[in-house]
This record gives sequence, structure tokens and C-alpha cells, in this order.
Amino acid sequence: MEDCIFCKITRKEIPAETVYEDDKVIAIKDINPQAPVHVLIIPKEHYDSILTVPAGNCIISDMHMVANRLALKFGIVDSGFRLVNNCGEDGGQTVDHIHYHLLGGRELTWPPG
Ligand code: IMP
Repeated sequence: MEDCIFCKITRKEIPAETVYEDDKVIAIKDINPQAPVHVLIIPKEHYDSILTVPAGNCIISDMHMVANRLALKFGIVDSGFRLVNNCGEDGGQTVDHIHYHLLGGRELTWPPG
């Protein structure tokens, strides 16, 4: 996807603070963090949202495994953390390339706004 900001980050065309990378997934620090730990877990392959990932595709579980690894890395396993996917306008999705937010390092409130 030519103009997708997360595709550009994946291709290293724009800078990001990368905290994890493998052949399928990249994880970066959010540019506007909402918690002491706020990481975006992004598949390198472009999908507009969670709705467009084909059935049987392993990328969702790959992203969850990366989230687990990063929760360990950032020391938020014992205190707890939140893994969030925003989908569509009312869901608060602002970048149309599927991603999870890994949030932790403070007590998170519920329900979200
Ligand atoms: P969404 O609103 O769930 O789609 O999340 C998009 C997230 O991407 C927001 O939390 C933004 O702060 C974050 N973001 C947008 N552009 C960049 C960037 O260039 N680097 C890192 N994070 C970004």
C-alpha cells in the first residue's frame, strides 16, 4: 500500500522506534503514548482492519505471541496489561492497517472512553 503510514514504517521509509521485528511483524513505540508502555504491533502484510484478515491466516496469533513477548520484555506481565484493536470509525481506528496496541505500566481504567 503506497500511502499507508504503517507500510511506510515497515519499509523503513519513515522512522519509528522499533522494539521488535521478525519476517511477519514489526512492533514500534506509539508516537502519542497513552501509558508508560504503549507499543503498536503491526503485521508487515497490509490488511485494512481485523475484518479483512482471511480465515485461517495465522497473523492474528502471531501478533498475540509478539504481544506476550513484549509484555515480558517491558516487565508488565505481573502488573497486567491491555491488548487493544480499534476497528472502524466508532471503534477509534485512525490508521487503516491492522494493529494491536499493547498498553501497560499504569492502572488502566474501564470502560474505555
Ligand atoms: P488507531 O487509532 O487504533 O488506528 O491507532 C493508531 C495509532 O498510531 C495511534 O495511537 C497513533 O498515535 C499511532 N501513530 C500514528 N502515526 C504514527 C507513527 O508515525 N509512529 C508511531 N505511532 C504512530
